[in-house]
Amino acid sequence: AGVSRETPDVTPDLVDMTTGDASASASVAPVPVEDDPGSDGTTVTDPAQAADGPDSEPAIAPGVVVAVAGALQDAGDPLTDEVWRSEVASVIPATDDETPLAQEIASDARRRLALHGRQFPAPVHTRVLTIANQKGGVGKTTTAVNIAAALAQGGLRVLVVDADPQGNASTALNVDHHGDAVGVYDVLMGEMRLADVVQPCPEVHGVTCAPATLDLSGAEIELVPLVAREYRLRKAIDAYVAEAADPPHYVLIDSPPSLGLLTLNTLVAAREVFIPIQCEYYALEGVTQLMRTVDLVQQNLNPELAVTTVLLTMNDGRTRLSADVAARVREVFGDRVLRTSIPRSVRVSEAPSHLQTVMTYDPTSSGALSYLEAAQEIASRGAAPDE
Ligand code: ADP
Ligand code: MG
Repeated sequence: AGVSRETPDVTPDLVDMTTGDASASASVAPVPVEDDPGSDGTTVTDPAQAADGPDSEPAIAPGVVVAVAGALQDAGDPLTDEVWRSEVASVIPATDDETPLAQEIASDARRRLALHGRQFPAPVHTRVLTIANQKGGVGKTTTAVNIAAALAQGGLRVLVVDADPQGNASTALNVDHHGDAVGVYDVLMGEMRLADVVQPCPEVHGVTCAPATLDLSGAEIELVPLVAREYRLRKAIDAYVAEAADPPHYVLIDSPPSLGLLTLNTLVAAREVFIPIQCEYYALEGVTQLMRTVDLVQQNLNPELAVTTVLLTMNDGRTRLSADVAARVREVFGDRVLRTSIPRSVRVSEAPSHLQTVMTYDPTSSGALSYLEAAQEIASRGAAPDE
């Protein structure tokens, strides 16, 4: 099943994705003011979403978005959809004399603001994705927790499985993983069921987390002599999903920056591989090795496994390097690359030190809006490939 999906094929007809994306065309063709989220090619599969589109939304200059965001935060208003829209509408004048670039940015902002408060379509069955890239520091953990929070803000239930001994996802989700806390380690060792270690994320309704405790760092070695050592996480997740009264719509597994037994467990447990790629010079270094591993796992341990999703992270908007890397990644992975990329943003990197995701730490920041849009794309792409 899906054998051809595993190898990154450089298909010529996908190459135009690299330059023909929405932002490129928007800069030559001014976007109409009453633009809706679907009109620039963004997929909006839920008719309910298309129906209540932001038909009266004015153009928004990027500086104004920040100003509104700041004002709202200062006012301490609960950020309901109504509050948000009325604030935006009252502050932002409609303009039609903007440069193409300003219009592009405004249209982008509008599209993201329109997502606020939207419900995302639920998959038919639970989708299990492992966030993988054996390079450290590319945004795996940041992506796992923020996509989880964003999907939950879209009304979906998400379980984050923290399979990285560093426990950064558990920290960002403010889930206890110190002292006597139990977690993924106990599950892998067969001492607990996943349901026994899952905790709700206090900041984001709809997100739960199986934390990584310190002893998980020993799992890599302790797993070696165990029976069915590659299948332990898969069995635990499958049982959890099968037995839960309200099973999660998504299981996102945050994996460590290595290709050991722990990562192998995450690749066997998942049906989909989600690769974050940092927009920097050596971006694709290591991804080739990951693809080879994914192929091996697919052939030997988990025939359903496929790389379905690639996200460009830490994009430095207008630098040539970021653009070149993005183009190259789209050339290699084609339409598996989400249209949305995540900008480099201080708010994103600050959030974990406040035990939050950026989705609650600064919901109107460019990072939060980008993660919301990326999550919407993931949800719109719908069901897992085996369905
Ligand atoms: P990984 O899990 O792949 O090791 P992380 O998600 O921990 O990577 O990210 C590595 C570092 O980069 C962290 O300090 C994180 O806060 C920071 N970071 C991630 N995404 C962004 C972003 N969009 N803007 C700024 N900093 C980011
Ligand atoms: Mg990490």
